[in-house]
Amino acid sequence: MKGPHVRQIQNYACHCLGLKSYFQRPGDGRARPRIPARDLVWAVVIGHALRVVSFLRLEWLAHSPVRAELGMKSQFGDDALAYCSERMDPELTRLALASVLHQAKRNKAFENSRFIGLALDGTGAGCTHKEPCRLCGPVKDPKGAVHGWLHHFVLISVVGVGLTLPIDVEPYGPGDSEYAAAQRLLRRAVGHLGARFADYVVGDGEYATAPFLHTSGEVGLPVVARLKENLPLLAAAVRARFDGQPPRAVFQEGDDRVEVWDYDHFDPWETLNWSEVRVLRYRQHKRDGTIIQAEWLTDFSLAKLGSLSFYRMAKSRWEIENQGFNDGKNRYGMEHICHHEPNSILIVWLLILLALVIERLYRQRYLHRGDHGIRSAMNLSDYLWLSLGTCNRPDTS
Ligand SMILES: [Zn+2]
Repeated sequence: MKGPHVRQIQNYACHCLGLKSYFQRPGDGRARPRIPARDLVWAVVIGHALRVVSFLRLEWLAHSPVRAELGMKSQFGDDALAYCSERMDPELTRLALASVLHQAKRNKAFENSRFIGLALDGTGAGCTHKEPCRLCGPVKDPKGAVHGWLHHFVLISVVGVGLTLPIDVEPYGPGDSEYAAAQRLLRRAVGHLGARFADYVVGDGEYATAPFLHTSGEVGLPVVARLKENLPLLAAAVRARFDGQPPRAVFQEGDDRVEVWDYDHFDPWETLNWSEVRVLRYRQHKRDGTIIQAEWLTDFSLAKLGSLSFYRMAKSRWEIENQGFNDGKNRYGMEHICHHEPNSILIVWLLILLALVIERLYRQRYLHRGDHGIRSAMNLSDYLWLSLGTCNRPDTS
C-alpha cells in the first residue's frame, strides 16, 4: 500500500497520537451495547475527514464493501449512531483531544513557534425549523418574530503555531451567554492541558471585559484582546496618546508594512484589577494600498513581549475564524445536525474537532516529511476516496 490511506490514518491516530485506548473506551453510556462504540466513534471521525457528514450516509459506508478498509468491523444503522451519541460522556473525548495536543507538542509539531496561543470565539450552527431542543436559540428578525432555531457554542483552539488545532467546545442555550460559556471553556481547557501548555489567550473585543480578563489571570495566562469602543475611557486615552504621533516601530511582515504604537502605562478601567494596561495600535499597509488599523490590549509586559510578537498574537485570533469556524462549517459538516438531541450535537461537534486535529497533524506534519509539499485537505480527502478499494491489490510497480 503506497500513499495515504484511511487505515494509515487510523494507525497514525492510534499509535502516533496515542488514541488507541480512547477509541476502545470512548465513554460509551449504553447499558447493553451490541455494536462496539469503537466502530461508531471511528465512523464519525473518519466520515468527517471524508466529508461524509450525516448519520444516514455513515450507515451507507458501514454497509459498503470497503467497510474493513475504513477501519470498521461491524455494520450499523443511523439509529445506533443516534442512540450511542445521546449517551456518550463528552469528558472522555475532551480528554482525548487534550492528550493529542500534548502528544503533538512532544512530537515537536509546534517547534518553530515561540508562543503557543489559545483563541476563543463563539458562533451558531445547525439551523433548524423543527421542535426546539434545550440548546436551540431563537433566530429573530428585527421585529422579534422567530424564524427557526440555532445552536450556539464557544470554540477554543490552539493558534499561532503554524497549524490551527481546536481543543474543545462549550454550548450555550437560551438563558446562558457566550461570555459565561467562554469562561467555563477556558477553565476546563486549561485544566485539561495544564497551565504551562500555552503562553497566551487571545479573543475579540467582547472578551475585553474584566471578568474574562480576570479568569484568564486565574488560570495563569496573559491575555491579548481587541480594544473597541465598549471601553470608551481607555479608547479615548489611547487616541489622546497615539493620534498624531510617529509610530514606535515599523516592521516588514511578509508583503505588508506594519507601523506600531505601543504603550504600557494606561490606567485600567474601574472593574479591572490590573495595575496598568498595555495597548498596541497597528496600522498594516497591504501591497494593494489597503490599510488596516486596530488596537489590542494585554497584560504582557514590554520586557516579556516585543511589539512585533504582540502584533502576531493579535493576528493569530483570525485563525479561529478561518481555520476553525469556516473550515469546520464549510468542509467538515459543523453546520449539519446529525441527530437533534443536545448531547448528540455536542458529541458530534467534539468528534469533528478530533477529525480536524487528526487530519491536520497527519497531513501537515506526518505526510509532510522530507521534501513532500503539503497536500490540501480536499486533495487528501479525494485521494483517500480513490485509494479505498485498491489497497489489497498487488503492487506491480
Ligand atoms: Zn436544538
